[in-house]
Amino acid sequence: MTTVFTWVASPAHAYQDHPERPGRLIELEARLDGFGAQKLEAPPATLEEIARVHEPRMIAALKATCQAGGGIIDYAPTFATASSFDDARLASGATLRGARAVWAGEASNAFALVRPPGHHAEPARAMGFCLFNNVAVAARDLLERGARRVLVVDYDAHHGNGTQAAFWEDERLAYVSTHQWGIYPGTGRLDDAPHAPGRIVNVPLPAHAGDECFKQISEQVLAPMVRAYRPQALLVSAGFDAHWDDPITSLGVSSAGFFQISKRLVELAGEYCRGKIVFVLEGGYNPVNVARGSAGVFAALTGSLFADPGDASHFEEPDIAAALEAIRARHGFS
Ligand SMILES: [Zn+2]
Repeated sequence: MTTVFTWVASPAHAYQDHPERPGRLIELEARLDGFGAQKLEAPPATLEEIARVHEPRMIAALKATCQAGGGIIDYAPTFATASSFDDARLASGATLRGARAVWAGEASNAFALVRPPGHHAEPARAMGFCLFNNVAVAARDLLERGARRVLVVDYDAHHGNGTQAAFWEDERLAYVSTHQWGIYPGTGRLDDAPHAPGRIVNVPLPAHAGDECFKQISEQVLAPMVRAYRPQALLVSAGFDAHWDDPITSLGVSSAGFFQISKRLVELAGEYCRGKIVFVLEGGYNPVNVARGSAGVFAALTGSLFADPGDASHFEEPDIAAALEAIRARHGFS
């Protein structure tokens, strides 16, 4: 079995000077052949598959906006074009394809390289550069295919409010997010979900939190959460805007840091989920960082060595020990 990837670059889903642009994937595309993974083609997600996460009214409204030629749909700003409804269906479809291949045992693991991204899209509204919530659509699909518990780990620099909202009442779905505190969308507080200890876990971080902080988070939050929740598959919202050189955020992760956290997640999936892990691209607004971070993820997925010594963070890291202790206490992690 091999590592597989799907690829949806959506060149027509573009808006003048917007950071979520087709060019984000240009550097990555040039390096795809070197990652030792096999490409899978995928059909667009059906409206029924999307409707497992999104309300019919929301789907119809996005379709109508696109049929009318598109435009700006919120203050983020989130845009839609004439082709965006189809582009978003393709992104969800490619995520489904990767997740199904892994769940069925056709692939050892997968990376869905897709845009538009998804983790801000809530059941009732598209927002935050996101139209359909790709990772949530894939998580619900795994439940349809017999999974009893699925965990989404989200290391994008922003809180995945959409995934959290989609999973809010569903005990079969768990969510843990690391994100910079104080930036868009403003959700993801430590105490966002008091009804779901151990199942909806938020790790808000100060600016400049980087590789060392993420090592601590891996051991003190992610590993105990996986051990306690016992998911049958891990889905990862991989956002490379947590990179120290991202133009719109201020976290401090390097490419080696993305490799380390991804490798730890692959190990945890090996221990608890029969190796079933699927990464899904979310944000990341410097194309070089998207390529370097993705290289780290592919190395983790294929069990390869990885080093990128030219990419050390320029920041000194904050001390997050007390914050992690509070999170562990809240969620009963030991
Ligand atoms: Zn982001």
